[in-house]
Amino acid sequence: MLITHPIDVRYLTGFTGSNAALVLPLERPSPRRTRRRSGDRKPVLFTDGRYIQQARQETKHAGVVIAQGPILREACAWMVAAGVRRCLFDGDHTTVATLDMLRLWIPTKLRRGFFLPAPPLVAGLREIKDAEEIGRLRAAGQLGCHLFEDLLTQIEAGKREVEVAAHLEFAARMAGAEGMSFETIVASGARSAMPHGNATEQRMPRRGFVVLDFGVMLKGYCSDMTRTVHLGLATTAERDAFEAVQEAQFAAIAAVRPGVQCGEVDEAARSVLRRASLADFFTHSTGHGVGLEIHEGPRIAAKQQQTLKAGMVITIEPGVYLPGRFGVRIEDMVLVTRSGAEILTPATKAWIEL
Ligand code: ZN
Ligand code: ZN
Repeated sequence: MLITHPIDVRYLTGFTGSNAALVLPLERPSPRRTRRRSGDRKPVLFTDGRYIQQARQETKHAGVVIAQGPILREACAWMVAAGVRRCLFDGDHTTVATLDMLRLWIPTKLRRGFFLPAPPLVAGLREIKDAEEIGRLRAAGQLGCHLFEDLLTQIEAGKREVEVAAHLEFAARMAGAEGMSFETIVASGARSAMPHGNATEQRMPRRGFVVLDFGVMLKGYCSDMTRTVHLGLATTAERDAFEAVQEAQFAAIAAVRPGVQCGEVDEAARSVLRRASLADFFTHSTGHGVGLEIHEGPRIAAKQQQTLKAGMVITIEPGVYLPGRFGVRIEDMVLVTRSGAEILTPATKAWIEL
């Protein structure tokens, strides 16, 4: 199996370089075919000259080959020399152009049927976090909460959204974060109705919501949380929407436990907003897995039949968005425990008026 998604390579070997491919020998499924076995071979990691030192320091469970040319060409040559006749590749992370090249690097007489798309095996493994991963996600979530509390002193009418984002990101770095896990969302006033309103030069209004959605990367693991605060006096509609989202978020977290379908968790949030006549304004899914990447499996969305398992870390983030008026979202990162859920981003979710 050829693993080409760098995050998957990192997950399996610890190597954090940006250019990496891992050849993972697998047992042949059918013993009738040939007697040649590649399953007892060690995995081999291919990277380039920039990573000689790093690859030797970080890589576990695999040999390291420093490729002279393109790493995938080297990986193909290695496979052919090792007698490999079939290779599963990652269809989710291989472009059409890359697949064409991979095929060209296999001798013509072996080429037909050499590469087969693999099911997302590593992505499936990554959904369940072990104790060390949970520790890192917990630490990242806690840092996010500290940053949020500090950020509250920075939000005021007239200040630009980018200044709030800059303060947050500087503080995150000073606290040891490797970076942000995605582009920081600071969406104020009518812009709060944009679910992905990245911080702009817009000045925050005297009255209106500010949606803050951000995450830090700590030891490779991402945090993700959203809080919505209000500047000045709120209207009844704004308060009602906030309370409905608060209740929807609470209901979805209460639905989280092993064995529950992801679709049921989504429905727990959606039904609360339906009762408040706001379901039409909840225009995205309820959440997603989070780990080495900000978005990974499982998807917490309508009708998803995948069941939750202990050790999964997911977000619960219902929101409502009234175009041209305002938006509200509340998001926590939660760990699926044996009996329910543990919130990894325990910052206050109460109404905050600044
Ligand atoms: Zn988020
Ligand atoms: Zn999220």
